[in-house]
Amino acid sequence: MKLQLCPNPFAFNFIKRLGGKLSEEEFVKIKNKILKFIEKDWPTVDKLIPKLTGIPWGEEDIVLYIAPENFPTGGRHYPLMIRYREDFDKFLLILFHELVHRNFRHGNIKWIEETEEPKVHSIAIKVFKKLYGEKRLKKIESKLSEKEKIFWAKAKELK
Ligand SMILES: [Zn+2]
Repeated sequence: MKLQLCPNPFAFNFIKRLGGKLSEEEFVKIKNKILKFIEKDWPTVDKLIPKLTGIPWGEEDIVLYIAPENFPTGGRHYPLMIRYREDFDKFLLILFHELVHRNFRHGNIKWIEETEEPKVHSIAIKVFKKLYGEKRLKKIESKLSEKEKIFWAKAKELK
């Protein structure tokens, strides 16, 4: 499956339309990080998610939108929108989470229930760990809110 970043000027206009306050400089910075990720690490993620879920991608390509920093959730899987944040590792982890949802959603399988959120998250954590290692994962974990900590613990219990 091909992951594409929504091109400019649409991408930045989209953020502004939704009330985003981030500067064009911040936008360019994250845009370049995402493009580098797509070039270097996307092929691994592309193979790893279907391997871990057991479901092939049901789509040829997906467009990724950067959502503004005031977006109500960390991400959405349809359309694929990830909220802007300075912490790029956390951004990637949320991206993997939403991509797992997307894989389930379009992979010709029953809709995954909200109760299965920890399952989705456990796969996202595995993908992140495989790519970037335990140390970088622990760094994200150290900054989680109390609510997030409970959720992560549930996800990590799943094998
Ligand atoms: Zn989710």
